[in-house]
Amino acid sequence: MTYPDTKLFIDGKWRDASDGRTIDVIDPATSRRIGRVAHAGIDDLNIALEAVQRGFNTWRRVPAIERSALMFRTAAILRERVDLIAPLMTAEQGKPLVQSALELHAAVEVIEWFAGEARRLYGQVIPARTPGVTQYTIMDPVGPVAAFTPWNFPVNQIVRKISAGLAAGCSLIVKAPEETPASPAELIRAFADAGLPDGVINLVYGAPAEISDYLISHPVIRKISFTGSTEVGKLLAGLAGRHMKRSTMELGGHAPVLIFDDADVVQAVETMVATKFRNAGQVCVSPTRFLVQETVAREFIDGFVEAARLLNVGPGRLPDVQMGPLANDRRIPALEALIQDAVQHGASLVTGGHRIGNTGWFFEPTVLTDVPAKARIMNEEPFGPVAIINRFDTDDAAFNEANRLPYGLAAYAWTNSSARSQRIRDELQAGMISVNHIGLSVPEVPFGGIGDSGIGTEGGSEAITAYLQPRFITQLN
Ligand code: NAD
Repeated sequence: MTYPDTKLFIDGKWRDASDGRTIDVIDPATSRRIGRVAHAGIDDLNIALEAVQRGFNTWRRVPAIERSALMFRTAAILRERVDLIAPLMTAEQGKPLVQSALELHAAVEVIEWFAGEARRLYGQVIPARTPGVTQYTIMDPVGPVAAFTPWNFPVNQIVRKISAGLAAGCSLIVKAPEETPASPAELIRAFADAGLPDGVINLVYGAPAEISDYLISHPVIRKISFTGSTEVGKLLAGLAGRHMKRSTMELGGHAPVLIFDDADVVQAVETMVATKFRNAGQVCVSPTRFLVQETVAREFIDGFVEAARLLNVGPGRLPDVQMGPLANDRRIPALEALIQDAVQHGASLVTGGHRIGNTGWFFEPTVLTDVPAKARIMNEEPFGPVAIINRFDTDDAAFNEANRLPYGLAAYAWTNSSARSQRIRDELQAGMISVNHIGLSVPEVPFGGIGDSGIGTEGGSEAITAYLQPRFITQLN
């Protein structure tokens, strides 16, 4: 595999930045530079803005059935290229090869789901009060979109936004992650090779704050979609509000996991260890605060710690590796500081807690127990391979702790009681709840948070409405 240098894609052409600037791309498994990505400046953004407006004028007039057909062609192209693109993703992001391939297959499904949705952009016919009047709504695309996506799922964070936007008839400028540029560029190439008209998707990289400030304030852009931290999301949503633009925000979480005394503890351990350490914990829906009922706490903690210690951590390109490195070097001091703070507050560090070696950004699967609520890690998203396991005695105490934070993205629970299942549904303040298994993030179900975790959903039949605006027409015949 040769890792390529990545260019900008503007108005249907791959191009260097006008001033030739680039950013280094580092392999997190070796800490070595493997390539470069073009760094867009304001001149490039201006060209992209003109292109995205022209792209919108073209694409909004393409019949939905043809938009859908092009998206199905893209999905077929991408499916054929999975084995070529997965090694690029592993080289730039660090995740095991099998997880990169899974991410790409999931992207194919996302494109197909929204390709289907393009054919169902129904308006309504509304009974009129006056004889002879016909009144109805039509669903129009909102206009050119600016989308900002992070490095943890280099393709899947982008594909949801692009697919929903294109299905609705929008054009887009995507600011993709500078750390992991090549695999998202291959996604865009698949759309271009399927015949997408010039200017409908434009891809840029550069200084995130400069690009978001410029694009969000620009009159051509009508909608913003961002995935990343709550802190940055609030800044961007504020800017979007100032310019009266719609926004979808998929932000941070701090997912609670409730393990009740009637749960299948063995199954819970097996499933939650795999889920916690997937993508080295760098997942917005990663299970984070495990709350375990006193009587099963010892069994759960012992099983979880044993399984965490057995995980094979290493370079994602090697077979049998289950957890790769962290995706960038700044996550190592960030995690070390959170763990140290927890221990200073009285938590027990049962396993892990340290960087592995000094080549690449590998980190031990880590378990902290008995962590006081005032420790930073109980309040800030760790975004890494760290599980916090605390105990509870009454169900009310567990629900209170689960709902203590302003986040509300994912929540998990394990119980065999139907009464408890109902309380879980009624009490847990989270946009997505998974009970006794992991069933989040397939394209046909909603994906999004409440509270500080964001606004809107990026899955399910609701997702496309973020890219549509209803208009009302009434006519006397
Ligand atoms: P960060 O907040 O600096 O960046 C997170 C993402 O937002 C990156 O992709 C970055 O390029 C982008 N970003 C930052 N400032 C921006 C701006 N002004 N305009 C547009 N985009 C901007 O943090 P980081 O060190 O890269 O990641 C750590 C934190 O980010 C994590 O703790 C987690 O909370 C969050 N994060 C969340 C997700 C997610 O899937 N929700 C993904 C990646 C990171």
